[in-house]
Amino acid sequence: MSCDFVSLANPGVQALRPYQPGKPIEELQRELGIEHIVKLASNENPLGPGARAQQAICNHLAELARYPDGAGFALKQALAEKLSVRPSQITLGNGSNDVLNLIGLAFLNPSASAVFSRHAFVVYPIMTQYLGARAIEVPARDWGHDLAAMQAAIADDTRVIFIANPNNPTGTWLGHQALRRFLQQVPEHIVVVLDEAYAEYIHDVDYADGLALQREFANLVVTRTFSKAYGLAGLRAGYALASEQITDILNRVREPFNVNSLAQVAAVAALADDDHLQHSIRLNDDGRRQLEQGLAGFGLSFIPSQGNFICFDTGTDATAVYQKLLQQGVIVRPVVPYGMPHHLRVSIGLAAENDRFLDAMKAVL
Ligand code: PMP
Repeated sequence: MSCDFVSLANPGVQALRPYQPGKPIEELQRELGIEHIVKLASNENPLGPGARAQQAICNHLAELARYPDGAGFALKQALAEKLSVRPSQITLGNGSNDVLNLIGLAFLNPSASAVFSRHAFVVYPIMTQYLGARAIEVPARDWGHDLAAMQAAIADDTRVIFIANPNNPTGTWLGHQALRRFLQQVPEHIVVVLDEAYAEYIHDVDYADGLALQREFANLVVTRTFSKAYGLAGLRAGYALASEQITDILNRVREPFNVNSLAQVAAVAALADDDHLQHSIRLNDDGRRQLEQGLAGFGLSFIPSQGNFICFDTGTDATAVYQKLLQQGVIVRPVVPYGMPHHLRVSIGLAAENDRFLDAMKAVL
């Protein structure tokens, strides 16, 4: 006798399609039997972790038999100093994805709804679904968040609004006044999540200052990560900045040791390594120009991005282009799960990796 456990799973889980990560390099190596693969699929820092973070990890190896500091004292202290906030406003997470999840766990349930934009980071709809909440997906404007439409979509049962700034995979971003006006209109009992996973890369002077807005709006939660510009995606460290009350609530649903000790020491070291951060940002600026010029040279249009990735229109079935790029040893990211069947997202890599991608595109086209 066998049980159908799918029918026994929570209703929101039954029809769930799991998050599809970028294809791992090793997997393509096994499939193609070729050595030199370029992966520009997961918005990782092509420089890798900085030397100071690496050293901090090495220094801590002998301590691994011990549990990490569940309160993350040193990392919160370092963040508080850098960002001029109180440690009691910081929630640490196993990546910022974990922090997003804590917000969902704390505020979403089958009698609540969450508002987010079409083409926004796919973790928002996935989380909303498995928590059994109602998803209110708002059509995008020029691939970006349509704040007026999002405000109009708020329902009586809305508990959380997710905003990615800049958004992944589109790279679109919001200006300060537009976001401030939006926050002024949102009822203050609704938690607004401002997901700033790529904030460090942004140069636009008009880019919304999430920290300043958090000081003004007690219902705003800003999330950030060490996975992108700080080059620590494999370690999983992220954080939320929020009011002390919301931070206390997130802490109630947090696993006791959700951030491992290597992640904590590496993140502290990475925060102090401004050279590596600035190098990463410059490399990203140069790589963005290189990819934009290359794509424009092929006559392909792309969505202007301030992140470490560019979403471009293949003008055809993007899955076929993706497959052909794989044959060339280049992994990019299909964005079909984002409702974008003609686009591909390419992460900005080292100059040589970007060239490899452009060469492969030339061959494919
Ligand atoms: N938010 C956005 C917009 C992202 O693109 C990502 C990573 N793809 C995350 C959050 C989560 O990243 P992490 O868990 O590595 O911090």
